Amino acid sequence: MLSLDAEARRALWAEVARAVDAYAETGANGPVANASNDGLAELVARFDFTAPCAPADALAAAVDGLTRFQVHAPHPRYFGLFNPAPTTMGVAADALVAAFNPQLATASHSPFAAAVESQLVRAFGGRFGYSPEEADGTFTSGGAEANATALLLALTRACPAFARGGARALPGDPKIYISEEAHASFHKAARMTGLGDDAVRVIPVDRTLRMKVDGLRTAIAKDKAAGAFPVLVVATAGTTSAGVIDPVASIAEVASRAGVAFHVDAAWGGLAALVPELSSLLDGCARADSITFDAHKALSVPMAAGMFLTRHGDALAQTFRPSAAASYMPRNASRDPYARSMQWSRRFTGLKVWLSLAVASWDGYADSLRRQVALGETLRARLRGDGWVVANETALPVVCFTDGTRADGNSAAYLNGVARAVAASGSAWISMTRVAGGARLLRACITNYATKESDVDALARALIAARESIRSAS
Ligand SMILES: *Cc1c(COP(=O)(O)O)cnc(C)c1O
Repeated sequence: MLSLDAEARRALWAEVARAVDAYAETGANGPVANASNDGLAELVARFDFTAPCAPADALAAAVDGLTRFQVHAPHPRYFGLFNPAPTTMGVAADALVAAFNPQLATASHSPFAAAVESQLVRAFGGRFGYSPEEADGTFTSGGAEANATALLLALTRACPAFARGGARALPGDPKIYISEEAHASFHKAARMTGLGDDAVRVIPVDRTLRMKVDGLRTAIAKDKAAGAFPVLVVATAGTTSAGVIDPVASIAEVASRAGVAFHVDAAWGGLAALVPELSSLLDGCARADSITFDAHKALSVPMAAGMFLTRHGDALAQTFRPSAAASYMPRNASRDPYARSMQWSRRFTGLKVWLSLAVASWDGYADSLRRQVALGETLRARLRGDGWVVANETALPVVCFTDGTRADGNSAAYLNGVARAVAASGSAWISMTRVAGGARLLRACITNYATKESDVDALARALIAARESIRSAS
């Protein structure tokens, strides 16, 4: 039962291939989000696992569930979070990896996988300005794990006794510095490392939502004067809410003068490193001790694929290699992936990036990302023309906006109504966000390589229809 016979297997693969291809071909024809979850409980309850089920029936139930009960993030009219349609090569890679199931804990078990991932972290480190000799890193499940890795690495480098003594060994009250607009995964990381939320200093942002460098400088000086132990300064290159890029070079300078480690969270905004005319947006990144980059965002590979890039590859083993010999492991080599990351047994995450990049090439990715940035400009202009007020300033394709055509056009209740009406129409999907200072904004971002100008038009029309429907209802 756990492995099907040859005939049943081939029939199953054919059906999987058909379903995957049908979704790639026609997924864009259906609604972006389903109107309701009616029937979901019944679908799930059909299985109580007391008797075996025919493979084709089980598969059909899964395809049905995935089709009817999800927001279709891969849809070209999904303008929500940074969740693009997966690359074809990435889907193929994930299937291969599942079938060959290489064990990426040790390099000796999976030399091909280890070599590919090593090649990729070096190549991407190079795109961010690291020199070939220093570029290193590890694949992660996503940006959150990469950010937590950055904090652990910084703690271990700043205080080698941290590896044994943990937070007790730190020479003072630890502090990490992020902006008000930084990703909340740093708070999680603070909890996971035993530092806790109170270790996180949230630095105010200016009117354009960029970290106030003066505020950072003052906070570090105050903390030092009070005997605290500044551990890590974080700049965000492409905030999740508004796509804003902190003044990376100035922040790097402050961190360097204060002798504090510097991390850049470029989970999505790192896409600028792949487009030659945009790469100057990331000036200063090369000075970072480490960088977060999310392949499942910027490179459109299937989840979960993040990257932690660093100039201090040796510190990964210092941070993660267990000091007690893991006697059951083939060899406790410091280059083994399990000794250089949070995970132990690990999936070959790098293959989906490797195959996608091999087929598209750097130029292919640059073209695709350039088109997305241009569509962001198109959307911005279109919204302004329709009376919406664009509230964020960024070169990246995220547009935050309110409605300039009515007095309550920036109220949370009204904007929520608009977002809900757009989703209910099935023709597009956008989200709401709240930025520093409390302002509520509608948020539309372009992250899908398949999104075209006609999709942007459809969003603009859906927004006007939402506005009209709320006007006529009140
Ligand atoms: C998405 C995001 C993260 C978290 O990444 P995951 O891949 O969801 O774990 C971290 N930082 C920023 C700026 C992000 O946009």
